[in-house]
Amino acid sequence: MHELVVLSGKGGTGKTTLAASIGSYIDRLVFADADVDAPNLHLLLETKLIEETPFYGSRKPVSDLERCTGCGLCTSLCRYGAIVNGKVDEHRCEGCEFCYHACPEQAIRLEEALSGHINVSGTRTGPFVHARLGVAQENSGKLVSSLKKKAREIAQDGDYDFMIVDGPPGIGCPVIASISGADLTVIVTEPTAAGLHDLERVLDLAAHFEVPAVVCLNKYDLDPKKAAEVEHFCHEKGVPLVGRIRFSPEVVSAQLEGRVPGDENALLRGQFTKIWKNILKRLDA
Ligand code: SF4
Ligand code: SF4
Repeated sequence: MHELVVLSGKGGTGKTTLAASIGSYIDRLVFADADVDAPNLHLLLETKLIEETPFYGSRKPVSDLERCTGCGLCTSLCRYGAIVNGKVDEHRCEGCEFCYHACPEQAIRLEEALSGHINVSGTRTGPFVHARLGVAQENSGKLVSSLKKKAREIAQDGDYDFMIVDGPPGIGCPVIASISGADLTVIVTEPTAAGLHDLERVLDLAAHFEVPAVVCLNKYDLDPKKAAEVEHFCHEKGVPLVGRIRFSPEVVSAQLEGRVPGDENALLRGQFTKIWKNILKRLDA
């Protein structure tokens, strides 16, 4: 099974569009949306929810007021003002567990807290694993790890040859969780100074985790000079450029209509086809 992760240093570079587009060349695959803070791959796939599983990714303190002596130690130690004589304000509590360790009466215990859900939906080409963090919940790295584990199990059980992960933006914990164990990362970038900077950071991360990387240059025609700079950078680093995509209003209209860009545009389709062929060559190599 080949596991591909599509990344970019920031949101809005065309990562999800590319993930959906390369997936459209595969008859059977598992899709996973690891951008759990702002998932949107489902907007480009026709999905039907099959299964929803609660995700408990953190622990929250619960006090036993019968044991509490009202000594006030927890109140004085909590820097978030989230506990007053054993009574926890769950909206303020950050789950640091300090009060649990500090209470001299063991009047505080920790309970698993619901942080979000991991869902499995059906698509035309196979299962789609996605998730959403609950409001004001953290631990998105842990959620991404669980989501990927679920997607891998489904891919292995169903004997799928491909798994495509739409990764989160940035280079933090969720990205690390999404890239670990992948066969290839496809980094989408744009011809801007910020795009080049983000590309460098994601490439460093991929190199650190020993995941081979290829680059796709989106909207390359908006700044040919900067695009040449990005290509030169890739060449210098020895990172293959698998393709370039022109800026096209068709991409935006396809996104608004919930379809994969390129379905109704031969030029776009040709660009995605070339990218997919180059990715296959890298996987074969
Ligand atoms: S530290 Fe323990 S005993 Fe003291 S007020 Fe808090 S919960 Fe009660
Ligand atoms: S877990 Fe941390 S934030 Fe929450 S009440 Fe205890 S000390 Fe305060």
